[in-house]
Amino acid sequence: MRFDRFSSPLGQPYIAEIEEVPLYHYLPGDSALVLEIPGCPLSCPYCDRPLLARSRDWSPYDPVRLAAAVNKLGSETRFAGVVWSGAEPSLHWDNVVECSRDVHKAGKRVVVATNGGLTADLLHDSPETVDALLVRFKGFTNETYRALGSPAGVLENSRILVERAIDAGIHVELMLDIARDTPAQEQEFSAMLAWIAQDLRRGTPLHLRAIAPEHGFTINHGPAMPFLERLVESARKQHVGFIYLSNCHGHFLNNTMCPNCYSVVVDRTAHPPDLSFVTDGNCAQCGTDLGLTLDKEAL
Ligand code: SF4
Repeated sequence: MRFDRFSSPLGQPYIAEIEEVPLYHYLPGDSALVLEIPGCPLSCPYCDRPLLARSRDWSPYDPVRLAAAVNKLGSETRFAGVVWSGAEPSLHWDNVVECSRDVHKAGKRVVVATNGGLTADLLHDSPETVDALLVRFKGFTNETYRALGSPAGVLENSRILVERAIDAGIHVELMLDIARDTPAQEQEFSAMLAWIAQDLRRGTPLHLRAIAPEHGFTINHGPAMPFLERLVESARKQHVGFIYLSNCHGHFLNNTMCPNCYSVVVDRTAHPPDLSFVTDGNCAQCGTDLGLTLDKEAL
């Protein structure tokens, strides 16, 4: 299905699988309409969307046209709703809220992927707008954020946003950029893990995003990535998880393993993901709750 452009000329809305956001524990196997919003308060040297991130070109999405598109797509099976992504959706939050109202009226879900611009206050002031959040972390120290040209307070804002969103019953997944295989990077990962274990639900999914070597960083993509694999193993030993290598496509560490009996319960080397070892959101082997939100159409 093609869509007319209904925002800035930087890109067309497009259909993607929800795993591409990435969200792995929310409506696995569903698709969604991705709407991008230009502008970003950060200046990561490894940005993979530099045109979008630096653009000031903006015209609001038209709620009427968006609702028509969602209604049309809604007749297809396993269509979840919309994903607001970018760059940074919070920069045009009023438009996101206005359009999302119509998405909900059509019986569909709203996902927001933020780089830290969305605050707990904005979320609180727009109740029932967001069903699921992906919060992207660039690191887990203020020094890392400063080095990326971030305004002060983005890390703290992101932490508070995640805690409040979970308290409000919103589905939350996290992402952490991994740019180097250094002890400092490992310490940031450990600090994030401790936060998940102490202050969040231990089963909050965390996606590690390996930054590509063409940007001059030291992690190489490929079947053998000992540093990243070691990070995942250390999380499993601490019984904190689920941790994924979601931009390393086809890697077995993108499968969901039951944290209790270690069975593979969601096989993401299959397409669409194979959920045959999940029963009512629980591990079919041992009955452990996997924290999955499933689409009723998939059951
Ligand atoms: S936060 Fe994302 S979009 Fe913004 S500059 Fe960094 S990589 Fe680019």
